[in-house]
Amino acid sequence: MSTNEDCIFCKIIRGEIPASVVFEDDVCIAFMDIFPVKEGHCLLIPKKHYTNMFDVDPDVVAHLGRQLAELTRKVNAAFRPDGVLNIVANGSGAGQEVPHLHIHVVPRNHDDEFRFQFPKNYREKMAEREELERAARKIAEA
Ligand code: AMP
Ligand code: ZN
Repeated sequence: MSTNEDCIFCKIIRGEIPASVVFEDDVCIAFMDIFPVKEGHCLLIPKKHYTNMFDVDPDVVAHLGRQLAELTRKVNAAFRPDGVLNIVANGSGAGQEVPHLHIHVVPRNHDDEFRFQFPKNYREKMAEREELERAARKIAEA
């Protein structure tokens, strides 16, 4: 298994630092976040070191996706929140601090103080269809 010497999550995988593991298999491991936003906040990561969605093997993502559904349902069943957030930050600009791909699973309630912070009044004007079509084409052709 290819791990990265200095990566904190690789150290967890190698058993060099402690983690509270929810489950693991050959490809991935889920463990509790050390600074939980909310009780039940956990992380799902591949065991092989990938930085984020930009370099991860698509087959690994497929496996993570299946396990993510399972983990999300389990968190929901265990804590009965109003909802559960799945979040992945890709790159520091998106808020990624640990450069080893990880998916946050965070229980959420309607009255929670934390949320995605969108710009004020961003919903005042709907986008022009032409603008959306241009953006969709740009992504499709990238
Ligand atoms: P991000 O900001 O998306 O890169 O999130 C990194 C997450 O990893 C944060 O929520 C941290 O609390 C969490 N974290 C960092 N170190 C550890 C650790 N040793 N064990 C568990 N979670 C960790
Ligand atoms: Zn790593």
